[in-house]
Amino acid sequence: MIQLNGVRKSFGRNEVLKGVDLSVNKGEVVVVLGPSGSGKTTLLRCINFLESADDGEMTLGATKVNFRHVSSKEILHIRRQTAMVFQNYNLFNNMNALENVMEGLVTARKMPREQAREMAQKALDKVGLKDKYGAYPLQLSGGQQQRVGIARAVALNPEVILFDEPTSALDPELVGEVLSVMRQVARDGITMVVVTHEMSFASDIANHIVFMDGGVIVEEGSPQEIFTQPKEERTKQFLERIL
Ligand code: ATP
Repeated sequence: MIQLNGVRKSFGRNEVLKGVDLSVNKGEVVVVLGPSGSGKTTLLRCINFLESADDGEMTLGATKVNFRHVSSKEILHIRRQTAMVFQNYNLFNNMNALENVMEGLVTARKMPREQAREMAQKALDKVGLKDKYGAYPLQLSGGQQQRVGIARAVALNPEVILFDEPTSALDPELVGEVLSVMRQVARDGITMVVVTHEMSFASDIANHIVFMDGGVIVEEGSPQEIFTQPKEERTKQFLERIL
């Protein structure tokens, strides 16, 4: 489903991704762990071209790109197959929940408004916001806003949803409702790549855990392998700090 080979990205002299190789199978939930600054967010943003990687290759579904010379058509193709859920929700505050979910369907996917409305309603129902179609983001709690963010991603029916620390801006009492919606999305079989510090979510839901540090994948394996028998010293130290 997604195959990354040798992905590199620098910001000026700061090399943030130093050759990342990663495979994600269809229907899999891959959780990316790692200390602050290790390059997790940058990796997600390179997958959907919110950042352009300097080097490496990516295959996503049937599309294969070389980051060194990628065409705008290829970028569009990849973007059509991905959706992202952001830490700070990234909703349009001047649009209600329904309009926020419809927006990408109408503008990016060129879907007729009536069909987009139907899809958006279904997605909002799925995340438990049936009674909030008309609510504006600032009238919603953080947890509800993030559920709109997830509905927006689900409505696009992408090959993969990329979650960038989706619960880290939330008050602790609102984290549970967002994780439970994410669990439901995972149960539907959607491929997910999730950057998170929520260890219980990672150990319950992930099929595969990737530990990044210093711009490389240091270790990867099943939750069982990573949480109970980490092999690398850096993984052990990270887990000791946060568990
Ligand atoms: P966190 O858990 O704190 O979000 P992270 O592992 O997701 O960290 P990134 O956000 O990918 O790490 O950042 C990795 C490094 O890249 C950091 O040193 C950061 O300052 C730098 N960086 C990220 N985006 C940019 C940018 N747009 N311009 C310059 N430097 C950047």
